[in-house]
Amino acid sequence: MSLTQENRDLIFNSIRDIKDFPKEGIVFKDITTLLNNKEAYQALMNHLEERYKSYDLDYVAGIDSRGFIFGAALADRLNIGFVPVRKKGKLPGTTVCEKYELEYGFDEVEIHLDAFPKKNARVLMIDDLIATGGTANAAAKLIKHVDANLVEVCFLLNLKFLKGDKKVSEHAPVYSVLDI
Ligand code: AMP
Repeated sequence: MSLTQENRDLIFNSIRDIKDFPKEGIVFKDITTLLNNKEAYQALMNHLEERYKSYDLDYVAGIDSRGFIFGAALADRLNIGFVPVRKKGKLPGTTVCEKYELEYGFDEVEIHLDAFPKKNARVLMIDDLIATGGTANAAAKLIKHVDANLVEVCFLLNLKFLKGDKKVSEHAPVYSVLDI
């Protein structure tokens, strides 16, 4: 189900821009002001629940760390399990790892090898924002590597001009609540 214009505005206006964070030239989309606004947070979660309740999902996988907030809340609403995709070195069990390029240097994400106990699990991956798509692309590769079925990739915000969604859509359809 699509969002009403009123709820779209409510969600959009609850997200604040912080200029030059974490470094000069970046406009950081701060979602803490969405999370502490119960009307905006609920409107978003209602929308995501409404959209995904008919997808017959087995798990929601959230990307470290803001993807955990929306992903875990959504998994609970859908009465299914939650799986974290973490930055390197945080998961205690046996993991698989994927390296990806940043503007300067590299980063790595990983997932537990046994993250999805159900065979051919239907998985929705979620994060707060897609910029270049490097993080989500690496995370999508991991989910497929452990033999899960990546059904869709969801973002609250898509910085469209960076075209990160193009890269990620090679793995699964991409849905973003708000395009910027
Ligand atoms: P990317 O790999 O370039 O798509 O970057 C996506 C990751 O970096 C996400 O986990 C975002 O939370 C974070 N991120 C990148 N750019 C921004 C931004 N302008 N505002 C807030 N978070 C950002």
